[in-house]
Amino acid sequence: MTEKTIFKRIIDREIPAEIVYEDAQCLAFKDLNPQASVHILIIPLKEIPSIDHIEKEDELVVGHLFYVARQLAKKNGLTNGYRAVINCGEEGGQTVDHLHVHSIGGRNLSWPPG
Ligand code: AMP
Repeated sequence: MTEKTIFKRIIDREIPAEIVYEDAQCLAFKDLNPQASVHILIIPLKEIPSIDHIEKEDELVVGHLFYVARQLAKKNGLTNGYRAVINCGEEGGQTVDHLHVHSIGGRNLSWPPG
């Protein structure tokens, strides 16, 4: 059996996280190493390793992650914009193999990212 990812362990409440939102499809918690004053990770409860593993049946849940990102941005007062991104694979900068949307805001974000 493959080892649980750190995010699956957060879902299973085996390790602590600062959870800010949860529902039947997803969980949102503060990033341990925030890149701005607001940095939240929104993850599906379903174990989808990356964008590269999204199946047709996952379309709705992936859209839901972005809807929740929008709601949390509103809740956090990010009225001047923010960034909602998903890193994919090694060259995409993904370090945890459980799909996650980074929702980052509270400062001017540069583009392109490094
Ligand atoms: P990525 O590099 O796109 O896979 O993003 C992984 C993110 O997870 C990074 O921003 C890390 O800071 C964050 N992270 C790793 N472990 C934890 C944890 N235990 N609790 C909260 N965030 C974490």
